[in-house]
Amino acid sequence: MTLTLHGQAVSRGVAIGRAVLAAASRVDVAHYFIAPQQVDDELARLRRARDCVVEEIERLRQGLAHDTVGAHAELAALLEVHLMLLQDEQLQDGVKHWVTERRYNAEWALTAQLEVVARQFDDMEDPYLRERRADLEQVVERLLRALRGAPSPVAAAPAPQGRGEPLVLVAHDLSPADMLHFKHGVFAGFVTDVGGRTSHTAIVARSLEIPAVVGVRNASQLVRQDDLVIIDGEAGVVIVDPSPMMLAEYGYKQRQGEIEREKLARIKNTPAVTLDGQRVELLANIELPEDTLPALSVGAVGVGLFRTEFLFMGRGGQLPDEDEQYEAYRRAVEGMHGLPVTIRTVDVGADKPLEAHRRDDHLNPALGLRAIRWSLAEPAMFLTQLRAILRAAAHGKVNVLIPMVAHLSEVRQVHAMLAKAREQLDRRGEVYGPVRVGAMIEVPAAALAVRLFLRHFDFLSIGTNDLIQYALAIDRVDESVAHLYDPLHPAVLRLVADTIAAAQEAGKPVSICGEMAGDVTLTRLLLGLGLRSFSMHPTQILPVKQQVLRSDTRKLRAWAQQVVASDEPAQWLVD
Ligand code: PEP
Ligand code: MG
Repeated sequence: MTLTLHGQAVSRGVAIGRAVLAAASRVDVAHYFIAPQQVDDELARLRRARDCVVEEIERLRQGLAHDTVGAHAELAALLEVHLMLLQDEQLQDGVKHWVTERRYNAEWALTAQLEVVARQFDDMEDPYLRERRADLEQVVERLLRALRGAPSPVAAAPAPQGRGEPLVLVAHDLSPADMLHFKHGVFAGFVTDVGGRTSHTAIVARSLEIPAVVGVRNASQLVRQDDLVIIDGEAGVVIVDPSPMMLAEYGYKQRQGEIEREKLARIKNTPAVTLDGQRVELLANIELPEDTLPALSVGAVGVGLFRTEFLFMGRGGQLPDEDEQYEAYRRAVEGMHGLPVTIRTVDVGADKPLEAHRRDDHLNPALGLRAIRWSLAEPAMFLTQLRAILRAAAHGKVNVLIPMVAHLSEVRQVHAMLAKAREQLDRRGEVYGPVRVGAMIEVPAAALAVRLFLRHFDFLSIGTNDLIQYALAIDRVDESVAHLYDPLHPAVLRLVADTIAAAQEAGKPVSICGEMAGDVTLTRLLLGLGLRSFSMHPTQILPVKQQVLRSDTRKLRAWAQQVVASDEPAQWLVD
């Protein structure tokens, strides 16, 4: 039966594929295809892992052999259940199916089958049997651990051509780090139960140029492993088990999208200049040094936001040292071949926890120790990052961008830390380069007191994602308030317009690096407000450039002021 689910539209494009269901805690197992000739080896690997776990459990059981009462007896019974589950035919046959038929690697096959069997446990009437799901998960966890001890010797192979169906990942939640994990992965689309349009998971999905819909509430409950799914990333719609007519319709839409993208590629080398000769800077937002490649491929004239926190996440608390960071920043700088790179200092916290599955457990993490607050609370970590950035600045044009500035005391501390980092490098005789220092304007207090901050910084970058979150008091990751996320709220527009005007008065560069910069429906408005520098994920650069090429800022200035002053700005933007 066809099912249509609605969520938050995250990206352009349509994906059609078979669902792969993944529990959040298991999306970080490796997902890759194996070659047909590697199937036997992979099955043998699974058998070895199973033998290893059986042996481990047997040993544990023997240790308990003489205790027949109390907790030990219970534990012995539990181990018995685990042994039974290890021999379970449905688990074994299922895993074998995923490896032989789909050519999934062993870890992926195990977690895929776990989702199938666990769902059956969930549907059981008997509470005792229902609870066996937890045992099954533990057994799979043991097997995954055993597999880790015997890493796959096989190399990732291209996706099997036979069935010709791409795969889409359906999960309750995916952390930004999980998402990054799939950068060069196998999935053609993503669906999650939770998340808002500007959650970092959505932002990374967009940068992957993969159709995704987030905040689909019960998607991971309603979609079953291997269901055929259509993801319309633009409309925020997920269709499960579509009719042949729907498939044809979306197949057509998919092809139209491709044709559109091919057409846009023609303006890649055209300078972004408006009809009245205003030059506009279109910069890229990146998460990793290798993202400079897609940025250059669409004609970005620099990196306006390098979100360095992705180098820090999912490392089990082991933060990257100075050399590792220096190498990453240097690669980004060299990757841009002389174009400027704006490196934002680490912005962890809130929906970007250091550990993918360990949510910040403070009551209001978005208002907590994140971004510059965390950096200043960890001076050794911060100095390490600043030294690495300064060293990378010896290889090209580098700007340092400070996230979430709200207090003058923070500004003073940042400058003092920079001076200290330079001093430390001097003492070591290390080569480093000059940097311009900018502030992110993403807290309403900073936008309201922007003139104060302008005196202390070389440039500004408006982080509209957080600015909207804090101005409108809506959690950007909470789908239940996602409908209140409104870039066109008069208060938001006022803050953005005033920040641009103040920077211009002070003769300092100002850019927008939040998602508003890549929204083509807002390009003309922002040009009208005087913005000449936009930073966005590379996928949006050409569509925004197309808008720039069609705009005449002389005609937009007065209109933009009217929009900002109006009660309902959105109505002015209807074409
Ligand atoms: C923003 O807040 O607009 C921004 C660009 O930073 P991030 O999305 O990483 O919080
Ligand atoms: Mg931000």
